Amino acid sequence: MENQTHITTPDPALVLPAPVSTSPPISFTTDRFPAWMDRHHTWIVSVVAVMTLVTLLCLGWAAYAVRHEMIQSSGHSLVQAATDAASKLDMMILERYGDIQMLSTAPMARGQNPEALTKYLRELVHAHPAYRWIGVTDSRGKIIATTDTSNTSLDLSQRHWFQLARTITGVRILDAQVNEESGGTSAITVIAPLHSPDGRFLGAIAAVVGVPSLMNILDDTMQVLKNIEWTEESHIEYQLLNEKGDLIADSTLCDRPCNLNLKQLGLPSATLVGMNARGFVEETHLRRGASVITAYAQLTIAHADPMLRWGILIRVDRDSILTPIRSLLWKLLFLAILILLPLLGLVLGMIKALHAEWGTAKREFQRATDAETALKKRTEALHALVVAAQTLSAQQDLDGLLHQLLHLAKENTGARYAALGVDNDNTRDAIQFLTAGMDDAAAHAIRTLPLEQGSLESLGQEDGALRLAHLTKHWATVGFSADHAPMTSFLGVSIRSHGQFFGRLSLANKTTASGLATDFSELDEQVVLTLAAQAGTAIQNLQLLHDSTEQARHDSLTGLLNHSTTLTILTQELSRAERSHHPVALLIADLDHFKRVNDTYGHPVGDVVIRETAQRLRATARRYDHVGRIGGEEFLIVAPNCDLDALRECAERFRVAISDMPFDTPSGPLTITVSIGATVWSSEHPLSSDLLCKMADYALYRVKSRGRNGIDIVPHPHALVIEQMENAG
Ligand code: GH3
Ligand code: MG
Ligand code: MG
Repeated sequence: MENQTHITTPDPALVLPAPVSTSPPISFTTDRFPAWMDRHHTWIVSVVAVMTLVTLLCLGWAAYAVRHEMIQSSGHSLVQAATDAASKLDMMILERYGDIQMLSTAPMARGQNPEALTKYLRELVHAHPAYRWIGVTDSRGKIIATTDTSNTSLDLSQRHWFQLARTITGVRILDAQVNEESGGTSAITVIAPLHSPDGRFLGAIAAVVGVPSLMNILDDTMQVLKNIEWTEESHIEYQLLNEKGDLIADSTLCDRPCNLNLKQLGLPSATLVGMNARGFVEETHLRRGASVITAYAQLTIAHADPMLRWGILIRVDRDSILTPIRSLLWKLLFLAILILLPLLGLVLGMIKALHAEWGTAKREFQRATDAETALKKRTEALHALVVAAQTLSAQQDLDGLLHQLLHLAKENTGARYAALGVDNDNTRDAIQFLTAGMDDAAAHAIRTLPLEQGSLESLGQEDGALRLAHLTKHWATVGFSADHAPMTSFLGVSIRSHGQFFGRLSLANKTTASGLATDFSELDEQVVLTLAAQAGTAIQNLQLLHDSTEQARHDSLTGLLNHSTTLTILTQELSRAERSHHPVALLIADLDHFKRVNDTYGHPVGDVVIRETAQRLRATARRYDHVGRIGGEEFLIVAPNCDLDALRECAERFRVAISDMPFDTPSGPLTITVSIGATVWSSEHPLSSDLLCKMADYALYRVKSRGRNGIDIVPHPHALVIEQMENAG
């Protein structure tokens, strides 16, 4: 572990809570709750809302239609009234026209009889109060008969109407205006020339018909209108205007003259009446600003010169028309609210209850599905574990087993990174660190996790697993800078063999099948724990196998290779030497007079000497030399790559190692000597292992014969052959 200085107790939120026991699996089919049903409450609420909206819209539309109908029918009534008034006015003016026409052709007028004329005129005014003034002039414009006795001798020759009368032949009507004869009020003037039968101009007749009298006709019309229900409390008024839009008469202004031009003031009805014969329009009252309905009708006075087109406007406040329907609408609305609101509440309540029921059913379904999924996962995990256990057990060597464990743990948990550290038993330093799916940063991050410090230390000591979630979020809590490692989640477990800590399996960054980062689950933890336990057992078995194999290959007293293994190794080395053409030396060492040691000091002391001899030989041999015990106190040394020259030195070194230093035994220091016989294999003289052994044995025999504590080398087999021949001979 590298230097990690500040690890504190981890945030409890990091460590996942203990697993909650899941309910027994229930079999559900996933199409039992179709997806569209999930939104049922939404669309039911929508339908109710739409229905309510449609109902309100219908009510609104009905109200609008009734209102429209009311305005239409009221408008038409007003138009009818305006048209009637126009006819009456026309009739009245026509009558006055007829009066004057008749008078202009009467002999009385042509005869210029003042008395008779005056009498007639007075009767005419009396019969028709509309006349303000009637006068008859002679050809020079001097009045000869008039209804106004105060101006009997006036000269009216300069009057406009007189001048006009001189030039015309029939009766004419002049537009409404204020003139002297009208007495300061607006009036129309009916004029006619008086001609003799031979066409001579005799004089003129002028009859002033006051506008207020015309207003009387309109007043009568208003009286009729006021009897209609909707006008009872409403403002109803009329206006009379000429073709230019000048106001001639106004019911609210009475007979006061005024110089208002309604067209110029922008009154829509004033414009419309000049264009259409009749109609009505909704507009804003010029003075009061209220919304009004104005009906209009044209009054055409054909006998005027030029022809006159007056307009009659009759208006009433729109509100007063709508008052009756408005109260009806309020009642309807109240009724609708009274019916709709409880209905709406009821439906919404039912939907809410239904939704709650649906939610419960869905949760239950989800719970069952989750349980089924969890069971499925567990079954799969179990199956995978069985396969994994078989795979781990089948591993023949430790390296393969560790790699397999790493691979299985990574695959079965969905971890992105996996690492396995094998620690030295004593120093706890990592002696092996395997990784899978790693990039350098992740490998470094896992390796430097503070597993020996803080609460993470438990991982190295106990059998449990350590599972950390949201690692990035709490990275600083664990003691790392934010950019320290690309790890998001962690799962670690220790591996034990023979009850001892063996190493640590670390997994990081669990990802889902779709590649999203997630946390390790309780199932992952169990899988990893099982794998670690299985791996521990497999490691234990491998170690046992290794130990028993080693035991079978070695001598129990000295730990050196035993006889058969030494001979096997000799054969292997000779095969290798055949390929490499390097020499191989063979030495047999036998302690001198060892029987005496046993006899003198006892067998245990003899054993001590044998063990010490083995140690000294092993220590003196090169790293790649093989030292085996082939008899009681007899040792075989196979020295690869050792030629004849080197062999002399080598054999002497072995002899000195034994003979020149007393053995420390329970019976005190003992001087033990050794005899060494040796030979060498070379590619020039390739010999069998048997023959080589015999040659070395023969060399040993020669040392013993010479008096022991020495070395002898038999480099060629011919010496041996001679010996054998002598023995045979
Ligand atoms: P020489 O110099 O001729 O080799 O004389 P020696 O006494 O050593 O004769 P030899 O090699 O024949 O004797 C071997 C003796 O080693 C015989 C036996 O008592 C003793 N021996 C054999 N195996 C063991 C053993 O495992 N432990 C002990 N203590 N003695 C053993
Ligand atoms: Mg011996
Ligand atoms: Mg001996």
